[in-house]
Amino acid sequence: MVDLRNLSIKKIKEGLLDKKFSAFELTAAVFDVIEAKNGELNAYLSLNKDRALATAAAVDAKLAGGENLDDLAGVPLAVKDNILVKGLPATSASKILENYRASYDAEVVSRLRDQNAVLIGKTNLDEFAMGSSTENSAYGVTRNPHDLNRVAGGSSGGSAAAVAGQMAVAALGSDTGGSIREPASFCGIVGLKPTYGAVSRFGLTAMASSLDQIGPLAKTAEDAAILFKAIASKDAKDSTSVGVDYADVADDPVLEKVRGLTIGVPDEYFGDGLDQEVGKEMERAMDDLKSLKIKFKKISLPYTKYALAVYYIIMPAEVSTNLARYDGLRYSPPSEGEKHKLSDLYFQNRSQGFGEEAKRRILLGTFVLSAGYYDAYYLKAQKVRKLIKRDLEQTFQEVDVIFAPVSPTPAFKVGEKTANPLAMYLSDIFTIPANLAGIPAVSIPVRGREGKLPIGFQLMGKNWREKDVLDVGRLYERL
Ligand code: GLN
Repeated sequence: MVDLRNLSIKKIKEGLLDKKFSAFELTAAVFDVIEAKNGELNAYLSLNKDRALATAAAVDAKLAGGENLDDLAGVPLAVKDNILVKGLPATSASKILENYRASYDAEVVSRLRDQNAVLIGKTNLDEFAMGSSTENSAYGVTRNPHDLNRVAGGSSGGSAAAVAGQMAVAALGSDTGGSIREPASFCGIVGLKPTYGAVSRFGLTAMASSLDQIGPLAKTAEDAAILFKAIASKDAKDSTSVGVDYADVADDPVLEKVRGLTIGVPDEYFGDGLDQEVGKEMERAMDDLKSLKIKFKKISLPYTKYALAVYYIIMPAEVSTNLARYDGLRYSPPSEGEKHKLSDLYFQNRSQGFGEEAKRRILLGTFVLSAGYYDAYYLKAQKVRKLIKRDLEQTFQEVDVIFAPVSPTPAFKVGEKTANPLAMYLSDIFTIPANLAGIPAVSIPVRGREGKLPIGFQLMGKNWREKDVLDVGRLYERL
C-alpha cells in the first residue's frame, strides 16, 4: 500500500527510483482514495482513470528501461475544470458547457504531459471561477477535507480539496482575485499565483483577462516551485506570456540570500474585519520568520482600501465581454428542435445556462461598460488600479517581500455567505491587490494547527521574483 499522506513530488521520484512503489501502484492508490472520498468531498467533476493508469504504466516501463525521469514523471496531478485537457469535459462548472469536450490541450497541460505527469481528473470550481467557496458550481459544493461542514474555498476549491484530501499530490488552479491562494489557505496547503505573464493561459477559459493566471496548489512550497517551473513559459499562443528565465526557481534556498531579504508589513492589512484568531496566527508566523533572522519593516499601502471596489468594476467588465461567446450553440453539440428568433434563442440559452453569480456579473459588467457610465466607473477604476500598482512598485523599492493575511477568516460554513454576495466578496480583500498589480503571491499554511482549521499567510513579491516568496515559504516550512 502506498502511503499518500506525506508524499511530495520529490519523494515520489525517490520512491520510484528506489522501487518502493511503482507509478502504477501510486496512481491506483490515488483512485482508491477518490473512490472512497470524492462522494462526500465532491472535489472532482470528471476522472481520467484509464489514461492516467496508462501514463503511469508507461512511466514504469521507462524506468525499467533505465531512462531518466523528469521531475513530474508519474506524479498524480489534478486540473481545474476551466483548463482544457483534450478529450475530457471542461465545464468550468457551468451548465452552459455541460456537453463540451475539450478539442485541444491547454499549453500548461501539454507541458505536464511532456514530463509524463499523470493527469487524474478535472476539479470543481465556482462557475467560470467566480466565487470564493465553490458554492457557485452548477455541480454541487466542494467540501473541506478538514471539516465537511465547511467550504474548501474558491474558486479552485476542488483542486485544493483534492490535494488536501490525498486525491492528488498537487494540482493546477487559476487565480483572478485569490482563487488559488484562498482555497489553499482554507485547506492547509500551499498555493502560488504567479506574476501576470509568467504562465501561458492558452486553453484556460477566460474570466477576467487582465487578471487571470494559472498556478500550482501543492503540499509544500518546494512542490509548488517544481510545478511552477514546469508550467512557466513564453508561448506564442498567449501574447501576454513573457519568457523569463526561471531555471533556478525550484533550487534549494540559500540561507544567507533569504536572510538578505526585507519583509514589509502593511498596516492596511491588519485592521478591522480581520478575524482575531487569524490576526494572532499572523503574529506567530511573523515571530517564526523573525527567529530565522529575516528582517521585517512596517510599511503603508494607502490605496489598498480601494482594491476591492476597483476589482468589482474591472473584473465584471471583462467577465461580461468574455462570457458573451457562450450562447448555448457554440461549444455544444447542435441541438435539435424548433427554430427560434436569434434573440429568443440567446435569451433562453443564457437564462438557463448561467447561474446567479455569473448573471450578476454579466449585468454589472455590461452596465459599467455602457455609454454614459464607462467614464464614471470603468475608466475611473482603471486609473485607481494604476495608483494601487504604483503604491506597490514604490514599496518594492524598500522591501523585497510583503507579508499579509490571505483571507480575513478561516474556512466558513457551507451556506454561511451564499445569501450575501458582498460578504462573500470580502473573502478576497487581501488577495485582490496582487492581481490588480500583476505581482506574484503565495499562500503558506501557518504551522502547528493540527486538529484546528488551517490558516494561511500570504507573501507577495516583486514581478518575476516567485523565488523570493517561495524561498521564504520553504525556510518557514523547515520549522
Ligand atoms: N473570489 C473572487 C471572485 O469571485 C476571485 C475569483 C478568482 O480568483 N477566480 O471574483
